[in-house]
Amino acid sequence: MSVPAQSTARAKDFRVAIIGGGMCGLVCAVGLARFGIEAEIFEQAPKFDEVGAGVGLGPNALRALDRLGVLDAVLARVDDAERQERRMLYVSGSDQHEEVYDYNKSSEFTAADDGIGIYRPAFLDAVMPLVDPKRTHFNKRCTSATKLASGAYCIQFSDGTSHEADLVIGADGVKSVLRNAVVGDKMVLQFTNTVAYRGLVPLETLKQDGLKTDLRRRVCCFVGIDKHIIAFPIRSGKIVNIVAFATDNSVPVGSVEVTGPWVESVPQKELLDKYEGWGPDAMSMLNHMKNPSKWSIHALTPLETFVHEKIALVGDAGHAMTPHLGSGVGQGFEDVFVLCELIGHPSTNLSNLEDVLKAYDAIRQPRANMVLHRSFRAGVIYEAFGKPGYAAADMGKHLAGMWEPIWRHDLDADVASAVASLQQRGSFPAAES
Ligand SMILES: Cc1cc2nc3c(=O)[nH]c(=O)nc-3n(C[C@H](O)[C@H](O)[C@H](O)COP(=O)(O)OP(=O)(O)OC[C@H]3O[C@@H](n4cnc5c(N)ncnc54)[C@H](O)[C@@H]3O)c2cc1C
Repeated sequence: MSVPAQSTARAKDFRVAIIGGGMCGLVCAVGLARFGIEAEIFEQAPKFDEVGAGVGLGPNALRALDRLGVLDAVLARVDDAERQERRMLYVSGSDQHEEVYDYNKSSEFTAADDGIGIYRPAFLDAVMPLVDPKRTHFNKRCTSATKLASGAYCIQFSDGTSHEADLVIGADGVKSVLRNAVVGDKMVLQFTNTVAYRGLVPLETLKQDGLKTDLRRRVCCFVGIDKHIIAFPIRSGKIVNIVAFATDNSVPVGSVEVTGPWVESVPQKELLDKYEGWGPDAMSMLNHMKNPSKWSIHALTPLETFVHEKIALVGDAGHAMTPHLGSGVGQGFEDVFVLCELIGHPSTNLSNLEDVLKAYDAIRQPRANMVLHRSFRAGVIYEAFGKPGYAAADMGKHLAGMWEPIWRHDLDADVASAVASLQQRGSFPAAES
């Protein structure tokens, strides 16, 4: 059930531009509109589009969407079978896929810890109707945002046009251009030495092959040395979303630069050769990925800040991370929720906007970077399974409680603490006692 915005809509004395119309940019536009703030969205592509794959959203991501007023629309696109335990079941990638660790055994869980697996285009279909088409601009690849003498920004696009705004929100993903305006041209993005092969396979097809692992209602992770495969159901439980990760640990992270495309179609043989010797369920999944796409996974070294003056980063622009905990976009939704609540606050105006963004940064940067760290560590833990001296019990020891701080988090308390800090600093009027 969506919660209405805290304040009634009131006109703001500043103009907002969102660069990037991915999952975070779109949700940000909807979140701001709830406060009566009509942001302009600039997207480089000719239309809003998402990769034809699944995305897992944990309970914290769903809470953020709920507070942003989009959860009902998203859940309307999700069948019961896609509401699932995001608590992973880890099985061996080889042999008969013996259980290695069940995250359900990690601590006490309730239904509130459940999440969903959703087909990305279905997410888009849910959110797009909530966005004002008059405020969306396509084929607009942002190249820079320059501060004018007035204090506003001139946003330039590759087609030679420009747009002026007082607040610029960078939701432009892993290759963010706005990030440069925040951290300069420091080398903060690096190839993680991990590639991910993505594919979708009907569950029925896998069952006909004799699938033993239960992929009907939860996320399963097949683990082995330098590789792991994550699989979960989407599309009413009929399709299994598969991501097969392989890491080259022979070279340090950051030492290899991917000069070709970061996403490419590859022959299935490349994938099958990589996983040679894995167990029957794993090989059955890979055998049915006839046209796999290979993604070179890049991640940020943690940014010290997500804001500079009146530019703020949300989503992958601020904290692109490895996908090993399925938590990247959830952190983006949290960014968006906190940012919208602060920007939409009745006391926010052009004169205190920079302070408001600093308060956003103080809340969001440490938390998103905590998740970034954990995601990387999780990949290392998964891909150590099978090394001499590394037992299944070690896996459980390292993973126990991994998601707790991510999933169980009070976003309203975050907003309240940011507002309190703005009041203490005098940027907002003092709270009435
Ligand atoms: C293999 C894989 C699996 C994943 N699985 C999960 C998962 O299960 N759960 C999860 O939470 N996360 C997952 N993630 C991470 C998740 O996909 C990202 O965190 C999420 O897509 C980030 O959303 P975003 O809106 O910040 O960026 P994006 O989705 O990258 O959107 C950015 C948008 O900005 C546009 N854009 C870019 N540059 C410009 C520009 N200069 N000017 C104008 N527009 C621009 C792009 O066209 C795009 O539309 C996964 C990632 C990968 C690679």
